[in-house]
Amino acid sequence: MQTSFTLAQLADPQTAVSEKILRACVHCGFCTATCPTYALLGDELDSPRGRIYLIKDMLENDRPATGEVVKHIDRCLSCLACMTTCPSGVHYMHLVDHAREHIEDTYKRPLADRFMRGLLAKVLPNPSLFRLAMVAGWLGKPFATPLRAIGLDRLSAMLRLTPAKMPAPAAETGKVYPAQGPRRGRVALLAGCIHPVLSPSTNEAAIRLLNRNGIEVVVAANEACCGSLSHHMGREAEALAFAKNDIDAWTREIDGEGLDAILITVSGCGTTVKDYGFMLRTDSAYAEKAATVSARAKDVTEYLSTLNLTPSPAPMSLTIAYHSACSLQHGQKVVREPKELLSKFGFIVKDVPEGHLCCGSAGTYNILQPTLADRLRDRKVANIERLQPDVIAAGNIGCITQIATGTDIPVVHTVELIDWATGGPMPEPLRKLQALSA
Ligand code: SF4
Ligand code: SF4
Repeated sequence: MQTSFTLAQLADPQTAVSEKILRACVHCGFCTATCPTYALLGDELDSPRGRIYLIKDMLENDRPATGEVVKHIDRCLSCLACMTTCPSGVHYMHLVDHAREHIEDTYKRPLADRFMRGLLAKVLPNPSLFRLAMVAGWLGKPFATPLRAIGLDRLSAMLRLTPAKMPAPAAETGKVYPAQGPRRGRVALLAGCIHPVLSPSTNEAAIRLLNRNGIEVVVAANEACCGSLSHHMGREAEALAFAKNDIDAWTREIDGEGLDAILITVSGCGTTVKDYGFMLRTDSAYAEKAATVSARAKDVTEYLSTLNLTPSPAPMSLTIAYHSACSLQHGQKVVREPKELLSKFGFIVKDVPEGHLCCGSAGTYNILQPTLADRLRDRKVANIERLQPDVIAAGNIGCITQIATGTDIPVVHTVELIDWATGGPMPEPLRKLQALSA
Protein backbone atom coordinates (compact mmCIF):
# COMPACT_ATOMS: atom_id res chain seq x y z
CA MET A 1 0.00 0.00 0.00
CA GLN A 2 1.37 3.43 -0.93
CA THR A 3 1.54 5.99 1.86
CA SER A 4 2.29 9.70 1.88
CA PHE A 5 3.43 10.53 5.40
CA THR A 6 5.69 13.58 5.64
CA LEU A 7 9.22 13.35 7.03
CA ALA A 8 8.06 15.32 10.06
CA GLN A 9 5.31 12.74 10.70
CA LEU A 10 7.77 9.88 10.29
CA ALA A 11 10.04 11.41 12.92
CA ASP A 12 7.48 10.15 15.43
CA PRO A 13 8.55 6.54 16.19
CA GLN A 14 4.96 5.31 16.50
CA THR A 15 3.96 6.79 13.14
CA ALA A 16 7.09 5.31 11.57
CA VAL A 17 6.06 1.84 12.77
CA SER A 18 2.48 2.30 11.55
CA GLU A 19 3.71 3.47 8.15
CA LYS A 20 5.75 0.27 7.75
CA ILE A 21 2.72 -1.81 8.72
CA LEU A 22 0.50 0.04 6.24
CA ARG A 23 3.03 -0.41 3.43
CA ALA A 24 3.03 -4.18 4.01
CA CYS A 25 -0.69 -4.44 3.20
CA VAL A 26 -1.36 -5.46 -0.41
CA HIS A 27 -5.18 -5.03 -0.15
CA CYS A 28 -5.75 -8.69 -1.03
CA GLY A 29 -8.65 -8.99 1.41
CA PHE A 30 -7.82 -12.55 2.56
CA CYS A 31 -8.22 -11.28 6.13
CA THR A 32 -11.89 -10.46 5.60
CA ALA A 33 -12.68 -14.20 5.46
CA THR A 34 -11.69 -14.77 9.09
CA CYS A 35 -12.75 -11.47 10.66
CA PRO A 36 -15.64 -12.03 13.11
CA THR A 37 -17.16 -8.56 12.68
CA TYR A 38 -17.09 -8.84 8.89
CA ALA A 39 -18.68 -12.30 9.21
CA LEU A 40 -21.51 -10.78 11.29
CA LEU A 41 -22.00 -7.40 9.62
CA GLY A 42 -20.73 -7.86 6.04
CA ASP A 43 -19.53 -4.24 5.94
CA GLU A 44 -16.07 -3.65 4.44
CA LEU A 45 -15.47 -0.96 7.10
CA ASP A 46 -15.94 -3.66 9.74
CA SER A 47 -13.25 -5.81 8.15
CA PRO A 48 -9.48 -5.59 8.78
CA ARG A 49 -8.84 -4.15 5.32
CA GLY A 50 -11.54 -1.51 5.77
CA ARG A 51 -10.21 -0.55 9.18
CA ILE A 52 -6.67 -0.35 7.82
CA TYR A 53 -7.89 2.20 5.24
CA LEU A 54 -9.71 4.21 7.93
CA ILE A 55 -6.60 4.23 10.15
CA LYS A 56 -4.34 5.19 7.23
CA ASP A 57 -6.58 8.10 6.31
CA MET A 58 -6.78 9.32 9.91
CA LEU A 59 -3.04 9.08 10.65
CA GLU A 60 -1.76 10.27 7.28
CA ASN A 61 -3.89 13.39 7.39
CA ASP A 62 -3.22 13.99 11.08
CA ARG A 63 -6.96 14.11 11.51
CA PRO A 64 -8.82 13.88 14.82
CA ALA A 65 -10.88 10.68 14.93
CA THR A 66 -14.45 11.07 13.67
CA GLY A 67 -17.53 9.35 15.10
CA GLU A 68 -17.62 7.09 12.04
CA VAL A 69 -14.01 5.93 12.45
CA VAL A 70 -14.52 5.38 16.18
CA LYS A 71 -17.61 3.25 15.49
CA HIS A 72 -15.71 0.82 13.26
CA ILE A 73 -12.55 0.68 15.38
CA ASP A 74 -14.61 0.16 18.55
CA ARG A 75 -16.31 -2.79 16.88
CA CYS A 76 -12.92 -4.45 16.31
CA LEU A 77 -12.34 -7.18 18.92
CA SER A 78 -8.53 -7.06 18.63
CA CYS A 79 -8.91 -10.83 18.22
CA LEU A 80 -6.03 -10.80 15.69
CA ALA A 81 -7.54 -13.53 13.48
CA CYS A 82 -6.59 -11.20 10.62
CA MET A 83 -2.92 -11.46 11.58
CA THR A 84 -3.01 -15.25 11.42
CA THR A 85 -4.64 -15.11 7.97
CA CYS A 86 -2.61 -12.29 6.39
CA PRO A 87 -0.05 -13.63 3.89
CA SER A 88 1.91 -10.35 3.95
CA GLY A 89 2.66 -10.27 7.68
CA VAL A 90 0.69 -7.07 8.38
CA HIS A 91 1.08 -6.38 12.12
CA TYR A 92 -2.53 -5.28 12.64
CA MET A 93 -2.18 -5.39 16.44
CA HIS A 94 0.34 -2.56 16.63
CA LEU A 95 -1.61 -0.56 14.05
CA VAL A 96 -4.95 -0.80 15.85
CA ASP A 97 -3.23 -0.09 19.20
CA HIS A 98 -1.91 3.16 17.66
CA ALA A 99 -5.38 3.99 16.30
CA ARG A 100 -7.01 3.43 19.68
CA GLU A 101 -4.49 5.73 21.33
CA HIS A 102 -5.09 8.38 18.65
CA ILE A 103 -8.84 8.08 19.23
CA GLU A 104 -8.38 8.48 22.98
CA ASP A 105 -6.26 11.61 22.40
CA THR A 106 -8.41 13.31 19.75
CA TYR A 107 -12.04 12.22 20.12
CA LYS A 108 -14.51 13.31 22.78
CA ARG A 109 -16.87 10.42 23.36
CA PRO A 110 -20.48 10.94 24.46
CA LEU A 111 -20.81 11.37 28.23
CA ALA A 112 -22.30 7.91 28.91
CA ASP A 113 -19.48 6.25 26.93
CA ARG A 114 -16.82 8.27 28.76
CA PHE A 115 -18.39 7.38 32.09
CA MET A 116 -18.54 3.64 31.32
CA ARG A 117 -14.96 3.50 30.02
CA GLY A 118 -13.67 5.53 32.95
CA LEU A 119 -15.49 3.22 35.35
CA LEU A 120 -14.07 0.07 33.73
CA ALA A 121 -10.56 1.53 33.65
CA LYS A 122 -10.80 2.40 37.36
CA VAL A 123 -12.52 -0.71 38.71
CA LEU A 124 -11.19 -3.66 36.67
CA PRO A 125 -7.46 -3.30 37.40
CA ASN A 126 -8.10 -2.80 41.13
CA PRO A 127 -8.93 -6.17 42.77
CA SER A 128 -10.51 -4.59 45.87
CA LEU A 129 -12.80 -2.30 43.84
CA PHE A 130 -13.51 -5.12 41.40
CA ARG A 131 -14.53 -7.40 44.25
CA LEU A 132 -16.94 -4.74 45.57
CA ALA A 133 -18.35 -4.33 42.04
CA MET A 134 -18.82 -8.11 41.84
CA VAL A 135 -20.81 -8.13 45.07
CA ALA A 136 -22.99 -5.29 43.71
CA GLY A 137 -23.33 -7.17 40.42
CA TRP A 138 -24.29 -10.34 42.25
CA LEU A 139 -27.05 -8.47 44.12
CA GLY A 140 -28.20 -6.76 40.91
CA LYS A 141 -28.19 -9.92 38.75
CA PRO A 142 -32.02 -10.34 38.77
CA PHE A 143 -32.33 -6.89 37.13
CA ALA A 144 -30.21 -7.80 34.07
CA THR A 145 -33.21 -8.57 31.83
CA PRO A 146 -35.35 -5.54 32.79
CA LEU A 147 -32.33 -3.25 32.33
CA ARG A 148 -31.80 -4.63 28.84
CA ALA A 149 -35.50 -4.11 28.04
CA ILE A 150 -35.16 -0.39 28.81
CA GLY A 151 -32.03 -0.06 26.67
CA LEU A 152 -29.33 -0.16 29.35
CA ASP A 153 -27.46 -2.87 27.44
CA ARG A 154 -24.02 -2.33 28.92
CA LEU A 155 -25.22 -2.35 32.52
CA SER A 156 -27.26 -5.45 31.75
CA ALA A 157 -24.19 -7.14 30.20
CA MET A 158 -22.14 -6.41 33.33
CA LEU A 159 -24.79 -8.04 35.51
CA ARG A 160 -25.14 -11.07 33.24
CA LEU A 161 -21.38 -11.58 33.26
CA THR A 162 -21.20 -11.50 37.07
CA PRO A 163 -20.69 -15.10 38.21
CA ALA A 164 -23.36 -16.59 40.47
CA LYS A 165 -20.80 -17.36 43.20
CA MET A 166 -19.35 -14.78 45.55
CA PRO A 167 -15.97 -13.35 44.50
CA ALA A 168 -12.75 -14.32 46.26
CA PRO A 169 -10.48 -11.84 48.08
CA ALA A 170 -7.67 -10.24 46.08
CA ALA A 171 -4.55 -12.40 45.63
CA GLU A 172 -1.62 -11.87 47.97
CA THR A 173 1.63 -10.78 46.36
CA GLY A 174 5.16 -11.19 47.70
CA LYS A 175 4.69 -14.92 48.33
CA VAL A 176 6.97 -17.81 47.52
CA TYR A 177 5.54 -21.31 47.02
CA PRO A 178 8.45 -23.75 47.46
CA ALA A 179 9.09 -26.74 45.22
CA GLN A 180 8.36 -30.23 46.57
CA GLY A 181 11.55 -32.27 46.52
CA PRO A 182 14.69 -31.02 44.77
CA ARG A 183 14.18 -27.63 43.09
CA ARG A 184 14.29 -27.98 39.27
CA GLY A 185 13.34 -24.43 38.41
CA ARG A 186 12.01 -21.09 39.64
CA VAL A 187 9.26 -19.09 37.95
CA ALA A 188 7.08 -16.05 38.63
CA LEU A 189 3.34 -16.38 38.20
CA LEU A 190 1.25 -13.32 37.31
CA ALA A 191 -1.54 -13.02 39.88
CA GLY A 192 -3.07 -10.09 37.99
CA CYS A 193 -6.25 -8.23 38.85
CA ILE A 194 -9.58 -9.74 37.80
CA HIS A 195 -8.52 -13.35 37.55
CA PRO A 196 -7.84 -14.18 41.23
CA VAL A 197 -11.12 -12.54 42.26
CA LEU A 198 -13.21 -14.37 39.63
CA SER A 199 -11.39 -17.68 39.66
CA PRO A 200 -8.72 -18.18 42.36
CA SER A 201 -8.77 -21.92 41.65
CA THR A 202 -6.82 -21.48 38.39
CA ASN A 203 -3.64 -20.03 39.84
CA GLU A 204 -3.97 -22.34 42.85
CA ALA A 205 -3.97 -25.28 40.42
CA ALA A 206 -0.98 -23.88 38.51
CA ILE A 207 1.03 -23.40 41.71
CA ARG A 208 0.14 -26.87 43.03
CA LEU A 209 1.05 -28.51 39.76
CA LEU A 210 4.34 -26.64 39.39
CA ASN A 211 5.36 -27.25 43.01
CA ARG A 212 4.59 -30.98 42.70
CA ASN A 213 6.94 -31.07 39.74
CA GLY A 214 9.86 -29.40 41.51
CA ILE A 215 9.24 -25.80 40.41
CA GLU A 216 9.34 -22.95 42.93
CA VAL A 217 6.73 -20.30 42.22
CA VAL A 218 6.90 -16.68 43.29
CA VAL A 219 4.11 -14.13 43.08
CA ALA A 220 6.35 -11.06 43.00
CA ALA A 221 5.92 -8.35 45.64
CA ASN A 222 3.87 -5.34 44.40
CA GLU A 223 2.93 -7.07 41.15
CA ALA A 224 -0.53 -5.92 39.93
CA CYS A 225 -2.61 -5.53 36.75
CA CYS A 226 -0.50 -6.01 33.60
CA GLY A 227 -2.14 -3.02 31.86
CA SER A 228 -3.83 -5.04 29.14
CA LEU A 229 -7.34 -3.68 29.79
CA SER A 230 -6.19 -0.03 29.70
CA HIS A 231 -4.03 -0.74 26.64
CA HIS A 232 -7.01 -2.07 24.69
CA MET A 233 -9.05 1.00 25.56
CA GLY A 234 -6.28 3.25 24.18
CA ARG A 235 -5.41 4.58 27.67
CA GLU A 236 -1.71 4.26 27.00
CA ALA A 237 -0.31 6.33 29.88
CA GLU A 238 -2.19 4.12 32.37
CA ALA A 239 -1.19 0.94 30.53
CA LEU A 240 2.49 1.87 30.54
CA ALA A 241 2.38 2.74 34.25
CA PHE A 242 0.95 -0.73 34.99
CA ALA A 243 3.54 -2.35 32.71
CA LYS A 244 6.43 -0.54 34.43
CA ASN A 245 5.16 -1.55 37.86
CA ASP A 246 5.16 -5.25 36.89
CA ILE A 247 8.48 -4.98 35.07
CA ASP A 248 10.03 -3.55 38.25
CA ALA A 249 8.47 -6.33 40.36
CA TRP A 250 9.79 -9.10 38.09
CA THR A 251 13.20 -7.44 37.55
CA ARG A 252 13.75 -7.51 41.31
CA GLU A 253 13.18 -11.28 41.19
CA ILE A 254 15.37 -11.76 38.08
CA ASP A 255 18.19 -9.81 39.74
CA GLY A 256 17.61 -11.63 43.04
CA GLU A 257 17.12 -15.39 43.04
CA GLY A 258 16.53 -15.46 39.27
CA LEU A 259 13.55 -16.54 37.17
CA ASP A 260 13.46 -19.20 34.45
CA ALA A 261 10.15 -17.86 33.17
CA ILE A 262 7.25 -15.53 33.93
CA LEU A 263 4.09 -17.60 33.66
CA ILE A 264 0.67 -16.28 32.80
CA THR A 265 -2.61 -18.16 33.05
CA VAL A 266 -4.71 -15.47 31.32
CA SER A 267 -3.80 -15.44 27.65
CA GLY A 268 -5.08 -11.89 27.11
CA CYS A 269 -2.55 -10.68 29.69
CA GLY A 270 0.14 -12.93 28.22
CA THR A 271 -0.16 -11.27 24.81
CA THR A 272 0.38 -7.85 26.41
CA VAL A 273 3.30 -8.91 28.65
CA LYS A 274 4.99 -10.49 25.60
CA ASP A 275 4.58 -7.09 23.90
CA TYR A 276 6.12 -5.00 26.73
CA GLY A 277 9.44 -4.96 24.85
CA PHE A 278 7.73 -3.24 21.93
CA MET A 279 5.53 -0.97 24.04
CA LEU A 280 8.54 0.42 25.92
CA ARG A 281 11.17 0.25 23.16
CA THR A 282 11.70 4.03 23.13
CA ASP A 283 11.86 4.42 26.92
CA SER A 284 15.56 4.47 27.74
CA ALA A 285 14.97 3.57 31.40
CA TYR A 286 12.75 0.58 30.65
CA ALA A 287 13.50 -0.69 27.11
CA GLU A 288 16.04 -3.31 28.17
CA LYS A 289 14.16 -4.48 31.27
CA ALA A 290 10.92 -4.68 29.28
CA ALA A 291 12.58 -6.78 26.56
CA THR A 292 13.98 -9.14 29.23
CA VAL A 293 10.56 -9.56 30.82
CA SER A 294 8.88 -10.18 27.43
CA ALA A 295 11.50 -12.77 26.51
CA ARG A 296 10.77 -14.68 29.73
CA ALA A 297 6.96 -14.45 29.49
CA LYS A 298 5.22 -17.72 28.69
CA ASP A 299 1.70 -19.03 28.71
CA VAL A 300 1.54 -21.62 31.49
CA THR A 301 0.94 -24.44 28.96
CA GLU A 302 4.08 -23.49 27.01
CA TYR A 303 6.12 -23.98 30.16
CA LEU A 304 4.30 -27.13 31.29
CA SER A 305 5.09 -28.71 27.91
CA THR A 306 8.78 -28.48 28.74
CA LEU A 307 8.34 -30.46 31.99
CA ASN A 308 8.07 -34.20 32.01
CA LEU A 309 4.68 -34.35 33.74
CA THR A 310 3.45 -37.78 34.80
CA PRO A 311 -0.24 -38.67 34.68
CA SER A 312 -2.11 -39.95 37.73
CA PRO A 313 -2.94 -43.67 37.50
CA ALA A 314 -6.66 -43.21 36.70
CA PRO A 315 -7.18 -42.43 32.98
CA MET A 316 -9.25 -39.35 32.15
CA SER A 317 -11.84 -40.36 29.60
CA LEU A 318 -13.84 -37.14 29.44
CA THR A 319 -14.49 -35.51 26.06
CA ILE A 320 -13.18 -31.96 26.00
CA ALA A 321 -14.10 -29.23 23.53
CA TYR A 322 -10.95 -27.16 23.49
CA HIS A 323 -11.70 -23.46 22.93
CA SER A 324 -8.54 -21.82 21.65
CA ALA A 325 -8.64 -18.23 22.99
CA CYS A 326 -7.83 -15.66 20.29
CA SER A 327 -5.07 -14.15 22.41
CA LEU A 328 -3.48 -17.60 22.68
CA GLN A 329 -3.89 -18.84 19.08
CA HIS A 330 -3.60 -15.54 17.17
CA GLY A 331 -1.82 -13.27 19.68
CA GLN A 332 0.79 -15.74 20.95
CA LYS A 333 0.61 -18.53 18.36
CA VAL A 334 0.26 -21.09 21.16
CA VAL A 335 -1.94 -23.70 19.51
CA ARG A 336 -0.44 -27.15 19.94
CA GLU A 337 0.70 -27.22 23.59
CA PRO A 338 -2.64 -27.06 25.48
CA LYS A 339 -4.23 -29.75 23.30
CA GLU A 340 -1.19 -32.01 23.43
CA LEU A 341 -1.05 -31.78 27.21
CA LEU A 342 -4.74 -32.61 27.57
CA SER A 343 -4.47 -35.56 25.14
CA LYS A 344 -1.36 -36.85 26.89
CA PHE A 345 -3.39 -37.27 30.09
CA GLY A 346 -6.14 -39.31 28.42
CA PHE A 347 -8.74 -36.64 27.71
CA ILE A 348 -10.47 -36.91 24.32
CA VAL A 349 -9.79 -33.47 22.85
CA LYS A 350 -11.98 -32.05 20.10
CA ASP A 351 -11.37 -28.86 18.12
CA VAL A 352 -14.32 -26.48 17.97
CA PRO A 353 -15.62 -25.82 14.42
CA GLU A 354 -14.94 -22.22 13.30
CA GLY A 355 -12.28 -22.23 16.01
CA HIS A 356 -10.63 -19.12 14.57
CA LEU A 357 -13.69 -17.00 15.47
CA CYS A 358 -13.73 -15.05 18.73
CA CYS A 359 -16.28 -15.90 21.46
CA GLY A 360 -17.03 -12.19 21.93
CA SER A 361 -15.24 -11.75 25.24
CA ALA A 362 -12.20 -9.71 24.09
CA GLY A 363 -11.32 -7.84 27.30
CA THR A 364 -14.08 -5.30 27.91
CA TYR A 365 -15.74 -5.92 24.52
CA ASN A 366 -18.62 -7.98 25.95
CA ILE A 367 -19.55 -4.99 28.13
CA LEU A 368 -18.90 -2.21 25.60
CA GLN A 369 -20.35 -4.01 22.55
CA PRO A 370 -22.87 -6.40 24.15
CA THR A 371 -25.03 -7.05 21.06
CA LEU A 372 -22.16 -8.18 18.82
CA ALA A 373 -20.57 -10.05 21.73
CA ASP A 374 -23.79 -11.99 22.39
CA ARG A 375 -24.05 -12.98 18.72
CA LEU A 376 -20.48 -14.26 18.73
CA ARG A 377 -21.01 -16.13 21.98
CA ASP A 378 -24.17 -17.81 20.67
CA ARG A 379 -22.32 -18.88 17.51
CA LYS A 380 -19.40 -20.21 19.57
CA VAL A 381 -21.68 -22.10 21.96
CA ALA A 382 -23.65 -23.65 19.07
CA ASN A 383 -20.38 -24.87 17.54
CA ILE A 384 -19.22 -26.27 20.89
CA GLU A 385 -22.52 -27.99 21.74
CA ARG A 386 -22.45 -29.76 18.37
CA LEU A 387 -19.45 -31.71 19.72
CA GLN A 388 -21.45 -32.89 22.76
CA PRO A 389 -18.48 -32.52 25.10
CA ASP A 390 -18.44 -33.29 28.82
CA VAL A 391 -16.43 -30.18 29.49
CA ILE A 392 -15.09 -27.09 27.71
CA ALA A 393 -11.46 -26.12 28.28
CA ALA A 394 -9.96 -22.67 27.68
CA GLY A 395 -6.89 -20.73 28.77
CA ASN A 396 -8.40 -17.31 29.32
CA ILE A 397 -10.75 -16.18 32.12
CA GLY A 398 -12.52 -13.76 29.75
CA CYS A 399 -13.52 -16.60 27.40
CA ILE A 400 -14.44 -18.87 30.32
CA THR A 401 -16.80 -16.24 31.78
CA GLN A 402 -18.25 -15.34 28.38
CA ILE A 403 -18.91 -18.93 27.20
CA ALA A 404 -20.33 -19.93 30.59
CA THR A 405 -23.13 -17.36 30.18
CA GLY A 406 -24.38 -19.30 27.13
CA THR A 407 -24.23 -22.97 28.10
CA ASP A 408 -24.72 -25.41 30.98
CA ILE A 409 -21.64 -27.42 29.98
CA PRO A 410 -18.90 -26.77 32.57
CA VAL A 411 -16.12 -24.46 31.35
CA VAL A 412 -12.78 -25.08 33.05
CA HIS A 413 -9.31 -23.59 32.70
CA THR A 414 -6.90 -25.97 30.92
CA VAL A 415 -4.40 -25.87 33.79
CA GLU A 416 -7.04 -27.03 36.30
CA LEU A 417 -7.68 -30.11 34.14
CA ILE A 418 -3.96 -30.82 33.86
CA ASP A 419 -3.54 -30.40 37.63
CA TRP A 420 -6.39 -32.87 38.22
CA ALA A 421 -4.96 -35.35 35.71
CA THR A 422 -1.59 -35.31 37.47
CA GLY A 423 -2.76 -35.80 41.02
CA GLY A 424 -4.55 -32.57 41.99
CA PRO A 425 -8.21 -32.22 43.03
CA MET A 426 -11.11 -32.42 40.59
CA PRO A 427 -12.03 -28.90 39.31
CA GLU A 428 -15.08 -27.49 41.11
CA PRO A 429 -17.41 -27.27 38.06
CA LEU A 430 -16.86 -31.01 37.47
CA ARG A 431 -17.49 -31.82 41.13
CA LYS A 432 -20.84 -30.06 40.85
CA LEU A 433 -21.65 -32.05 37.72
CA GLN A 434 -20.68 -35.28 39.45
CA ALA A 435 -22.87 -34.44 42.44
CA LEU A 436 -25.85 -33.73 40.16
CA SER A 437 -25.47 -36.99 38.26
CA ALA A 438 -24.94 -39.08 41.45
S1 SF4 B 1 -4.73 -10.11 4.28
FE1 SF4 B 1 -3.06 -8.73 4.92
S2 SF4 B 1 -2.32 -7.82 3.01
FE2 SF4 B 1 -4.33 -8.69 2.56
S3 SF4 B 1 -5.77 -6.96 2.91
FE3 SF4 B 1 -5.66 -8.11 4.82
S4 SF4 B 1 -4.07 -7.06 5.99
FE4 SF4 B 1 -3.82 -6.39 3.86
S1 SF4 C 1 -8.64 -7.97 15.12
FE1 SF4 C 1 -10.35 -9.39 14.77
S2 SF4 C 1 -12.19 -8.07 14.69
FE2 SF4 C 1 -10.41 -6.72 14.47
S3 SF4 C 1 -10.12 -6.52 12.26
FE3 SF4 C 1 -8.78 -8.24 12.91
S4 SF4 C 1 -10.06 -10.08 12.65
FE4 SF4 C 1 -11.45 -8.30 12.57
